Amino acid sequence: MNTQQANQPILVLPEGTLRTLGKGAQAANIAAAKQVADAVRTTLGPKGMDKMLVDSLGDIVITNDGVTILEEMQIEHPAGKMLLEVAKTQDEEVGDGTTTAAVLAGEFLKKAGELIEQNVHPTIITKGFKLANKEALKILENISEKITPDDTETLKKIAITAMTGKGTEKASEHLASIAVEAVKSVISDNKVNQDNIQLEKKQGGSSEDTELIKGIIIDKEIVHPSMPRKVENAKILLLDKSLEIEKMETDSQIQITSPEQLQKFMEQEEKMLKNMVDKVIDSGCNVLLCQKGIDDVAQHYLAKADILTARRVKKSDMEKLARATGGKILSNLSDISENDLGFAGLVEEKKIAGDNMIFVRECKDPKAVSILIRGGTEHNTEEVERALKDAIGGIASAIEVGKILAGGGSPEEEVAKGLRDFSQKYSGREQLAIQAFADAMEIIPRTLAENAGLDPIDILVNLRAEHEKGNVNAGIDVYNGKIIDMKERGVIEPLKIKTQAIKSASEAAEMILRIDDIIAASKLNKDSGSSGGMSGMGGMPPY
Ligand code: ADP
Ligand code: MG
Repeated sequence: MNTQQANQPILVLPEGTLRTLGKGAQAANIAAAKQVADAVRTTLGPKGMDKMLVDSLGDIVITNDGVTILEEMQIEHPAGKMLLEVAKTQDEEVGDGTTTAAVLAGEFLKKAGELIEQNVHPTIITKGFKLANKEALKILENISEKITPDDTETLKKIAITAMTGKGTEKASEHLASIAVEAVKSVISDNKVNQDNIQLEKKQGGSSEDTELIKGIIIDKEIVHPSMPRKVENAKILLLDKSLEIEKMETDSQIQITSPEQLQKFMEQEEKMLKNMVDKVIDSGCNVLLCQKGIDDVAQHYLAKADILTARRVKKSDMEKLARATGGKILSNLSDISENDLGFAGLVEEKKIAGDNMIFVRECKDPKAVSILIRGGTEHNTEEVERALKDAIGGIASAIEVGKILAGGGSPEEEVAKGLRDFSQKYSGREQLAIQAFADAMEIIPRTLAENAGLDPIDILVNLRAEHEKGNVNAGIDVYNGKIIDMKERGVIEPLKIKTQAIKSASEAAEMILRIDDIIAASKLNKDSGSSGGMSGMGGMPPY
């Protein structure tokens, strides 16, 4: 490489590296993002279809949840992966609206691609998009309405809207009430920590049997057959210490030379265990939930004292138990005071779908609650779980931000209209970029219409006309093909679903547009002899 001659290319990158430059790079990225967006587009809205995803082990997921689909798709292309990131951010920040976010990002890029074709430089486009993004958020803020945590009816509508089209329709009223009550229980300082809502799935029954438990479900059995199966007015000791004789850390040996000595040794051990159990009994508890192990002898004494006991409870469950029952997790048996104990109206063991589980119910003012999800099949319970997560996310962000919007394509159309007016302040190519952003917003009502088998052009014409008349909440009745007031229809969403989707989608689009050079390293041969697939140009085996 040290004899550089004229015309001879200088090799900067390793052999096998794939490089795409300029418009080619943009076109490739846009095409990939569009493909990914198109894959989830058909699932949007109440009439959206489901996808059946089969992974490499043959496991099947049937869903219309945007982020689930994108995750399971195992997208390879980097720009496609960025759309997955958009959906994931949406999922983390709001918990619903993932399809909307991905579809928007794809459409922003598609419209940008059309401008690039007309020789508008990507920098101008990203500048226009930034302006439009900011203005769009203002428009949404202006049309949003206030909500308080006491407005149970509206919160229920948010939950039902979030679950529409998820295959949980017949139980949606029931599930919506559960979601609202669950979120309300765990509000503190107007913040909702969704981790404090435990979702436990057990196949069997039907989705209508899904139940809210004001407390926690523990997937464990009571350790001893002669302990009570049910304790009312439970005083619960939460213990993070084993009731076993600690094994020596060092390699030590005890020499036992006679049967009497062995007897003594065992009696000593038993005494130590009994001492520990006595301390548990002295605490005044009638339920013991232990994160660590419990020796058989200790179990026996606990049973004699009628203490309902479970061992090896998961750490995360212990933390939730503390929040639900108001008890403290103790790692020491000395000086336990009454105040350290948690309280529950009822602790009981029940057999659900063949497994014994312990239910800690009727906690006073619990700061953590559980939902026991039931459904006829595994797919059922999983879809109920996803629907509930969307509902919980929706309610939570409505409460946190305190603002809501009507749905059904109405806010997107209102933004499109507002941005078209706003674009008049600018001239030339920037104006084009803002208008492209406005047009892209209409992908949501357009898709809702298409997925419902309606004529998207007719619908959009009518929708625009209604918004021109000032009907801010005009959206699509996907069941009757009419334009209606979505707020009156009860289709309500949290403001943040839309603001977050627009923000992430437009930022991702801007980022992808700024790329004019894709340098892809050649793939490492992960395991030779595997089915391989398309390794492209970079997959040359090393010689
Ligand atoms: P996402 O993953 O984006 O939440 P969904 O499949 O849940 O995707 O669809 C959400 C869209 O469906 C939103 O635009 C919402 O306003 C709309 N939508 C929900 N319920 C209705 C309804 N009853 N009528 C019309 N549109 C609805
Ligand atoms: Mg949704």
